[in-house]
Amino acid sequence: MSIMSTNVPGLDKGKGLYFFFIKAERKTPSGLIARPTLTSYYNSEQFKNRPYNPYNVYTSPNETILCPDTFQSMYSQMLCGLIMRHEVLRIGAVFASGLLRAIRFLQLNWRDLARDISTGTLNPRITDSAIKERLMSGILKPEPELADFITSQCSGENWEGIITRIWPNTIYLDTVLTGSMAQYIPTLDYYSGGLPKVSGMYCSSEGFFGINLRPICDPSKVSYTIMPNMAYFEFVPHDVAAPLSSRHAPQPPQLVDLAEVEVGKKYELVVTTYAGLCRYQVGDILQVTGFHNSAPQFRFVRRKDVLLSIDADKTNESELQKAIENASLLLREFKTSVVEYTSYADTKTIPGHYVIYWELLVKNDYSAKLPSHDMLNRCCLIMEESLNSVYRQGRVADNSIGPLEIRVVKNGTFEELMDYAISTGSSMSQYKVPRCVKSVPIIELLDSKLVSVHFSPAAPHFDSECRP
Ligand code: AMP
Repeated sequence: MSIMSTNVPGLDKGKGLYFFFIKAERKTPSGLIARPTLTSYYNSEQFKNRPYNPYNVYTSPNETILCPDTFQSMYSQMLCGLIMRHEVLRIGAVFASGLLRAIRFLQLNWRDLARDISTGTLNPRITDSAIKERLMSGILKPEPELADFITSQCSGENWEGIITRIWPNTIYLDTVLTGSMAQYIPTLDYYSGGLPKVSGMYCSSEGFFGINLRPICDPSKVSYTIMPNMAYFEFVPHDVAAPLSSRHAPQPPQLVDLAEVEVGKKYELVVTTYAGLCRYQVGDILQVTGFHNSAPQFRFVRRKDVLLSIDADKTNESELQKAIENASLLLREFKTSVVEYTSYADTKTIPGHYVIYWELLVKNDYSAKLPSHDMLNRCCLIMEESLNSVYRQGRVADNSIGPLEIRVVKNGTFEELMDYAISTGSSMSQYKVPRCVKSVPIIELLDSKLVSVHFSPAAPHFDSECRP
């Protein structure tokens, strides 16, 4: 907040509408209590009894955050956000996917929310006594004019700019939009009329790593400055060729100290934490962009893991993301965008092939035509053209990979995927759409929502002379 308030004056004059969630504790088979890290934080005395700070006032009372039932928690946080709509100066969630889920929740539940505001009574689905007591002690009271306003905004087909219409004093959106979250930028721009977007921090369950010292910059330019006091940071150089000799036992990777990293180079982050992790490889690849005093600054490149592989090909998250961005350019003329995606290496067919599940948003304009079957087939080909040469070689020269397939799924499918993940133990606050799915129930869920299926109509370009 101290960085934000030096960039944006007046943040002490209003509130933040933040969607925060906890998850019920579980026990491991050996009887230890397990819970997501943010649940620990929100349940801590430091959070619950935080001293009043005019720069950090939320519309969500603690009781609404501390309810493990995600419907009741989201409903009551949204209700408070609507009631205090003129006070809201910033809107956020930990990850951008969470913020979009809140908008979707409003789309599905605005009638009930408006009825509560109109009558001053609470939806019977809210049974949590702490939430009920808190909302009924002065927050929720009959406000028919406000209810009418919400109905007028939400009942229309057009949701473009809904955030600024309902919360007109919002200055910026506060949510992580780097890494795999970058794909949500166009959708958030659509709903917010292009409000500034702040990706303030880079952190994980293992620790709090970096902070964005230039918060009001384009999301593609964000660098995080590592905070050297938060853990002991070391780095494995990335893209360094492995030693060819196999005479010796494999050596542990050479680690580079925080002060020794070089601008332009990529590294994998390794942390030793106060909580007891020793040289733990977080799995993130970062690129040094500069220094703040002596602390290095990093651009988040991607998670290390390879997403898709059928044969010798290896497609990672950023390659897949780029391919989807290229293909979705074709959808622009149809005012359509890809709001969610995941992928799956289908090896049931021979040769196997990549399957990409798409949920599409057709913007509300009655003149908009739906993308045709042929156009979506072409999207498959554009994706293939965008993938690396090893993939295209497998497709064209080796015939080891079949044509790429796009499966368009019904709106709301990815929300159901999230519900499924939460019902099987994921944390709502920390949930991220998996960019590749492998589990049979998830694939069955996606396949049960199919709208249409498309295949690449031709082989992508591959020049066998021009190998990388
Ligand atoms: P979790 O421990 O489940 O909260 O996930 C932590 C992981 O989320 C990190 O290791 C990153 O891969 C990703 N992540 C967290 N913050 C950011 C960020 N600002 N930009 C991109 N990815 C992030």
